[in-house]
Parts: sequence; C-alpha cells; structure tokens
Amino acid sequence: MDNVINGRVSNLNHRVAHIDFQFIRNSVTKHISIEEEVDSILHFASTASPKDYSSYPIHTLTVGAIGTLNALRLVRSKNACFCLASTSEVYGSPLESPQNEAYWGNVNPVGPRNVYDEAKRFAESIAMAYMREHEVNTRIIRIFNTYGLRMRPSDGKVLPNFIIQALTGKPLTIYRDRSQTRSFCYVDDLLGGCYRMLTTSAASLDLCSARTINLGGNEEISIYHSHIE
Ligand code: UDP
Repeated sequence: MDNVINGRVSNLNHRVAHIDFQFIRNSVTKHISIEEEVDSILHFASTASPKDYSSYPIHTLTVGAIGTLNALRLVRSKNACFCLASTSEVYGSPLESPQNEAYWGNVNPVGPRNVYDEAKRFAESIAMAYMREHEVNTRIIRIFNTYGLRMRPSDGKVLPNFIIQALTGKPLTIYRDRSQTRSFCYVDDLLGGCYRMLTTSAASLDLCSARTINLGGNEEISIYHSHIE
C-alpha cells in the first residue's frame, strides 16, 4: 500500500505480474480494511528525504502518528507481527557518535528536521505502547542512510545528487561546514536485516533486548572527504 506521494508505481513493474503481489493505492492515514488473514505488517510509509518532509511537513507528522495508529489497529485485529521502519533521525543531532540503541537522542521539537524526527519518535512510542498494553508483537528498525536501485534522481539525498552532478559534469554540492559524516547501506543488505528482524522469534529478541535495532552501514564516511579522495 502506498499513496505514491514521493514514489513511482513504475518501480514495481518487475513485481506486478507476480501472482502473490497486489498493489493498493491508498494512504496509511486513511482507514485500512483487509479481508484476508495477515501474518505481518511492515510499516515503512513516510517521506524520508529532507527535501520531501520539508515540502510535506503536516503529512509527514500525520503518517507517523495517525498512519502508525491505523497500522497498529490492523495488526492487533489480525494478531499479526508488526515491524516499524524508524530512522536514525530519532537520535536528532546526537551528542554521541556512533549512536547505539540505548542512546535517547537530542531532538529539537521545533527544529528544521523536527517533523520527521518527532513523527518517528511518536511512531516508536505508540508501537511500544501497543506492545505493552495489547501484547502486539512489535519490532522496530532504525534505518540509517540507504541507497540502491530506482532511487529518484531528484530525491535530494546525497548519493543521487552526487551521481547526477557527476554524470552531467556539474560541481558536487557540499552543504554546511563540510564536517558532516554518514554511513551508507545497500538496500538489499538493509532488507536482509529487515527480514531477519521479522523472522526472529520474539523470545530471542527479548533475550538480547533487541526489539529496537539500528540497521545501516558500519563505516562512517566524511561527505566532504568522500568527494576529494
Ligand atoms: N549533502 C551534501 N550535498 C548534497 C546532499 C546532501 O553535502 O547535495 C550532505 C547533507 O548535508 C548530509 C549528508 O550529505 O550531511 C546526507 O544528506 P542526505 O540528505 O542524503 O541524508 P540525511 O541528511 O537525511 O542523512
């Protein structure tokens, strides 16, 4: 299910013929009705590029809040497993680096990136509330920067920007004071982690206090130095 606010249905062309695949154009902020049994719900709906959530600040908050509530209501009614795609942005402007899952973050509720940060922090919070109050089988993945096939050239994220700039012979744009660093993960690896998170038993996750995990690349890269090296 996707409202395609910042995606392309054509990205699914290689899947539509598959007998077990069905695409529903709908926003998770609207009522979700599914007749069939449901094993798992993976809630990935959100704008995730700074360019997009700046353009749709209210929608970004609504998806994180109402959208997550709708997804959890469905999960509960179907007795399904819930996997929430969260983000490294829950750490805000972190005062420690790298951040492990025990770090609570440093978020400005009215700052420039706040709509995404707070939407995902609320989403995590209500997912855990459903787990504690209604015993919903919840898992949360905090996704760090990810790249791969079919990203939009105009996504605004650093890798599509650099690739398009390099291909068109334009200078690479380095924002801010050049001190920023990021880690990058290829989408297939990210999905592998996601699948493992979904298929690991609740008992095993609880044994290692791993209901909430970071998922991303493990090499911290300087954005500035990556372009001059
Ligand atoms: N960035 C940059 N030039 C660009 C796009 C991004 O220097 O054309 C920097 C940006 O300041 C940030 C990093 O690259 O420090 C990653 O930005 P992106 O928007 O890809 O992801 P996010 O900030 O959400 O991690």
